[in-house]
Amino acid sequence: MEQVLLLNITYEPLKVINWKRAIIMLTLGKVEVIEEYNREIHSVSFSIKLPAVVRLLRLVKRPKTPVRFSRQNIYIRDNYRCQYCGRIFPPTDLTWDHVLPRARGGKTEWGNIVTCCIECNKRKGGRIPSEVSMTLIRKPKRPEWLPILTITLGFKHLPQSWRDYIYWNVELEE
Ligand SMILES: [Zn+2]
Repeated sequence: MEQVLLLNITYEPLKVINWKRAIIMLTLGKVEVIEEYNREIHSVSFSIKLPAVVRLLRLVKRPKTPVRFSRQNIYIRDNYRCQYCGRIFPPTDLTWDHVLPRARGGKTEWGNIVTCCIECNKRKGGRIPSEVSMTLIRKPKRPEWLPILTITLGFKHLPQSWRDYIYWNVELEE
């Protein structure tokens, strides 16, 4: 719990930094604290709550990186949310689903693959969603970029206080 999520001024997650760096940036007036952990840090001159999320007070431009097609990145694009029932699961309880089944010519690509829970996957089987009265919560497409964080950290390791910001960011990409 000593990691701090650094947000751009736009609230876009930029990277994970250690708490000491966050404190330095804070004392330099470069960031503001958005979320805190419960733990306090004490020094000779001050004591403050350990920051969990900090936001830069000026804009940092970030280069866009192409997104590799992978199971993990599909989950990240979909916020670990089953695209049929809308529930969020840890990666171990998720699979991916071909919206148009492969047997009917569906391709394994961004536009035809969605995150799906085991239950919905069983229910859908090899059929198209309308045949089993299922609807997608959003149309899948290739993301332009993904938050760096969820790629390096994975769902289970994300502190609770970070999650709103990471999802917030992903939602913007719709
Ligand atoms: Zn589901």
